[in-house]
Amino acid sequence: MPHAYDDQNIFAKILRGEIPNDTVIETEHTLAFRDIGPQAPVHVLVIPKGPYVSYDHFAAEASEAEIVDFARVSARVIAEAGIGLGEGGQGYRVISNAGSHGTQEVPHYHLHVVGGRALGRMLA
Ligand code: IMP
Repeated sequence: MPHAYDDQNIFAKILRGEIPNDTVIETEHTLAFRDIGPQAPVHVLVIPKGPYVSYDHFAAEASEAEIVDFARVSARVIAEAGIGLGEGGQGYRVISNAGSHGTQEVPHYHLHVVGGRALGRMLA
C-alpha cells in the first residue's frame, strides 16, 4: 500500500511557515526544532522537508542527499546539545514512532532526540 501523506499535519504547517517553531538547525533538506512538550532537558525533533510519513517511507524513497543531510543534522543536534559520546556527553536516545502500534501522533516522519538526563530502560 502506498504511503498517503496528509499535508494538513502540524509539521507540514511548520514547514510552510504557517505556525511557529523553535528552530535548532535548518538546512536545504532538514529542519530540527524543539519539541513543544519536552520529555527531557534535550528534546529536539528532526524532520525531513520532504513529504514522508514514517521511517520506512523516508528510508525507502528519499534521495541519498536527503538521507545524508538528515543524518548529519541529527548528529549536529546531538553534538551541539553536548550529549554525544564523541563530545564526552553522557548519551541520549533517538526514537521514531510509526503508525498506530508505534503511537505516532504526527504523520510526518520525525526523529526524537532525547537526552540531558538518565532516561531509564525502555524498549516498548
Ligand atoms: P509522535 O508521537 O512521535 O508523533 O510525536 C509527536 C511530537 O510532536 C510530540 O512529542 C509533541 O510534543 C510534538 N509536537 C506537536 N506539535 C508540536 C509543535 O507545534 N511544535 C513542536 N513539537 C510539537
